[in-house]
Amino acid sequence: NEKVVGFIGLGNMGAHQATNLIKKGHKVVVYDISQDNVNKLREKGADVAASPSDIAKRADVIVTMLPASAHVKSVYCGDNGIFKSIKPGTLLLDSSTIDPQTARDVADIAAKHNATMLDCPVSGGTGGAEAGTLTFMVGGKDADFARAKPYLEAMGKNIVHCGDIGTGQAAKVCNNLVLGISMVGVSEAMNLGVKLGIDPKKLAGIFNTSSARCWSSEVYNPCPGVLENSPASRGYTGGFGSALMNKDLGLAVDSAKSIGEPLPLGTTAHQFYTMMVQKGLGQKDFSAAYEFLQKTKN
Ligand code: NAD
Repeated sequence: NEKVVGFIGLGNMGAHQATNLIKKGHKVVVYDISQDNVNKLREKGADVAASPSDIAKRADVIVTMLPASAHVKSVYCGDNGIFKSIKPGTLLLDSSTIDPQTARDVADIAAKHNATMLDCPVSGGTGGAEAGTLTFMVGGKDADFARAKPYLEAMGKNIVHCGDIGTGQAAKVCNNLVLGISMVGVSEAMNLGVKLGIDPKKLAGIFNTSSARCWSSEVYNPCPGVLENSPASRGYTGGFGSALMNKDLGLAVDSAKSIGEPLPLGTTAHQFYTMMVQKGLGQKDFSAAYEFLQKTKN
């Protein structure tokens, strides 16, 4: 493939995604404010750029995987941002989870530069990012989706066209609304069961062959030792930070408020994660909900 792919945001997710693009034979140039994260990708064969604007000069396709809306705005629209030197025809794929309105606003600015931007948030966790099996929820026009698909297929397995710009983010926000609620639910139940004297592995096994079964219990169980490769079993590191889950539930609450829809459990789950962040657990994986509950008694 002759096209150069730029990648900005080499964190828990982005580092794996960029690595998979390299593995699939793409020429990849990267940027991150963390020099450590940049160095890891350099070792994997990526070229290194000096800024988002430098990426824009060199790349035909740019993938961004940043924490939140504010970072996306600054990387695209800031002083050394992508739009400072973007080439006409550039394809912009934002994989971050941000609010649907910011996705539409930045895509409008991209269009003024004769570039095309699609919202492409993902689900599947760091494990899915590493294995290249992510689900992409894509918002954009049919023809633009067709252009983006081969690049997304290098990083994911299920590439879903949700509709126009912003609908990928809408789908993602709803997905994480379920995830946040289910993680708090599984954590509450695991904590209660353990405190009532049931072995956690046995309890999780029962959930997973019964009606409590869900991703939070089966693939990502929050109780340490239940699953060998879960963030819970490595001190709640290397997963999806509680601060990011707090952000996503906030996006769901804001979206619901803006159109007058009720969100009783989502609001509660959002408050739960706000408390975790306030207690200093923001950088720990969001399954630390279990640890948080376990400790609230003492
Ligand atoms: P992360 O915090 O691990 O990584 C973010 C990266 O962006 C870091 O390397 C950081 O240095 C870099 N960065 C921040 N500001 C920057 C800037 N101005 N310029 C360049 N680089 C900058 O986050 P993550 O877990 O990889 O998540 C990224 C996004 O994906 C978030 O929106 C998150 O909600 C979403 N997401 C995460 C997961 C997950 O399981 N971790 C799953 C699905 C979606």
